[in-house]
Amino acid sequence: MFDAAIGLSALVFLLVLIRYVIQLINNNTRLFAITQRGYELEQELTRAQISKTVNETKLDTETDPITWKGFRRFQIIFKVKEAKDIVSFYLAPVDGKPLPKFLPGQHLTFRLNIPGQAKPVIRCYSLSDSPNHSDYYRVTIKKQSPPADAKDAPPGLSSSFFHDSLIERDYVDVGAPSGHYYLDTNKNTPLVLIGGGVGITPLLSMLNTITEKNSKGKLSNRETWFFLGCHNRQDHVMKEHLKRVAKTHKNVSLHVCYSSPKESDIAGNGFHHKGRVTVELLKNVLPSNKYEFYFCGPPKMMGDLHEGLGEWGVPEDNLHFEAFNSNSINAIAGAESVETESSIKITFSQSQVTLPWNPSSGSLLAFAEENGIILNSGCRAGNCGSCLTPIKSGLVTYLVEPGKKPDARSCLTCISIPKTDLTLDG
Ligand SMILES: Cc1cc2nc3c(=O)[nH]c(=O)nc-3n(C[C@H](O)[C@H](O)[C@H](O)COP(=O)(O)OP(=O)(O)OC[C@H]3O[C@@H](n4cnc5c(N)ncnc54)[C@H](O)[C@@H]3O)c2cc1C
Repeated sequence: MFDAAIGLSALVFLLVLIRYVIQLINNNTRLFAITQRGYELEQELTRAQISKTVNETKLDTETDPITWKGFRRFQIIFKVKEAKDIVSFYLAPVDGKPLPKFLPGQHLTFRLNIPGQAKPVIRCYSLSDSPNHSDYYRVTIKKQSPPADAKDAPPGLSSSFFHDSLIERDYVDVGAPSGHYYLDTNKNTPLVLIGGGVGITPLLSMLNTITEKNSKGKLSNRETWFFLGCHNRQDHVMKEHLKRVAKTHKNVSLHVCYSSPKESDIAGNGFHHKGRVTVELLKNVLPSNKYEFYFCGPPKMMGDLHEGLGEWGVPEDNLHFEAFNSNSINAIAGAESVETESSIKITFSQSQVTLPWNPSSGSLLAFAEENGIILNSGCRAGNCGSCLTPIKSGLVTYLVEPGKKPDARSCLTCISIPKTDLTLDG
């Protein structure tokens, strides 16, 4: 009897113990689950916070992406043939950050390490698409053949490097968008945009900006006359794009001129006028001269338009042009300058040479080179700053407005000429 009572007590004790252990396990499991959930919640919260911060940062940079100093690495993401000898390069920043907006008409500056060249080669290329794409920039480059009067000369250094050596996934070093040649998109004044050959690029950026919705989702109704001059269908760059834009935008009137159409080029089907873009044509086509004119193209076209539009009564303030090289600068400046001789003397102090200035050289850089004096140079159009040279004494004047005007103690030799006797530290 006594044994049975002890056995029963032991059993009860065992059952209580087992229950206690089970409860303990349950509690611990629940506690673990709660802790685990807490941990997961904490993780979720952290993740949400990270994502919120990332989004906020992204939004901040998207609405106000900062520009950069010096050169930034870009990858060529697409290389697209646009016409004979003309290729577009789509560039994405390697750091993946959004790109600052630019003003339609501005350009990029490239620093290219071209095999065989002692120094990096600096060249400028206009942005050819609208600024509405925060993930890429586009430039459109023509491979430069040797000039007609020097057929044995090498083809263009940088443009050949882009065409023949650089491929998709390659990297290039790029300076931020810059330049004072751009369309004021806050205005609604009627426009005439004129591109000759690859000079279409800044005008294309302007056209695309006008015909795409702006950041507020609005479309511009700005009256726009777009003229393109090229030889024929072979070098008719962005043909389908231009056709589509003109067809879908009532405010855009497209006029394509072929200077040497092929037999298979039919007027009305792809091009509108046989011949070049001239002031005569503009007078015939445009209702008046009350427009802002933006143009860029080969030297002769630039010189003729600048002079002819002035004679037609278009105020200088309404003439906006971009020179791709010193020939275009000279063509425009030549229309203004009648000086053929000069008594001005130029001293190059490092070379210890003093020479009489020759106005037909066009620029101080060209004058130095003609006399065997090597000065630094880059874009040859006053934009990249490579030719900045200290002035020891004297004054210069600029043939065209520099991208960024240096102070009076130095000058951009590629676009300046002397005003007085001059001593350059070169
Ligand atoms: C603001 C700006 C925007 C621009 N935008 C564009 C653009 O959108 N697209 C574009 O295609 N270009 C553009 N350019 C022009 C571009 O920057 C280059 O000038 C162009 O590509 C030629 O450079 P390159 O290095 O290929 O030729 P370079 O090597 O500078 O040669 C220029 C020419 O000289 C010839 N040459 C070379 N050596 C000799 C020699 N010994 N004797 C005689 N001739 C010789 C070459 O054959 C070539 O025809 C722009 C220029 C500026 C300033």
